[in-house]
Amino acid sequence: MPARPLPPEPISLSTLLMDAATAEALLERLRWQRGRPNCPHCGATQCYRLTCVRSGGVRFKCAACRKQYSPRRGTVMERSNVPTGRWLVALALAAGTPVNGLPARIERHTGVSYKTAWTMVQRLKANPSDPLLTAMNRAVDRGIILFTITDRGQSQPVRTVPRSPSTLMAMAAASTP
Ligand SMILES: [Zn+2]
Repeated sequence: MPARPLPPEPISLSTLLMDAATAEALLERLRWQRGRPNCPHCGATQCYRLTCVRSGGVRFKCAACRKQYSPRRGTVMERSNVPTGRWLVALALAAGTPVNGLPARIERHTGVSYKTAWTMVQRLKANPSDPLLTAMNRAVDRGIILFTITDRGQSQPVRTVPRSPSTLMAMAAASTP
């Protein structure tokens, strides 16, 4: 089952927030690097795609064990009510901007409450080797993510400083023996 196509790169943060289909497609690509969903219950790669009409969220049903799973399973996004696009922007900000002031930046650029943003950052801090954070870090390194946001019709750069060693990922790497 091929993954859905992504729009041309780089993908802006605004696109992730406003285009749910792009957000879901990027989530799948970040989650399964080989491009094929992989059942967390039995490891089979044969599956059916189930798309929620209301939210656009994607689930898979394993053709071997018949259990369902989501690309969020086993990641910081598991059992979170925050929409996929907002989570992906938060992950991009965590990978590409300093950890200092990260919750406020997530609040400002995704529209979640400060409390929610703070909770998201706690999840990220507790899971520095999360598969989505790791994959997003690579995507940021490769320039796949464009750090601009559209504000009242104007494109605003989110990241004004070059990639700094004070990001969450860099700190996690530095603390690993
Ligand atoms: Zn299975």
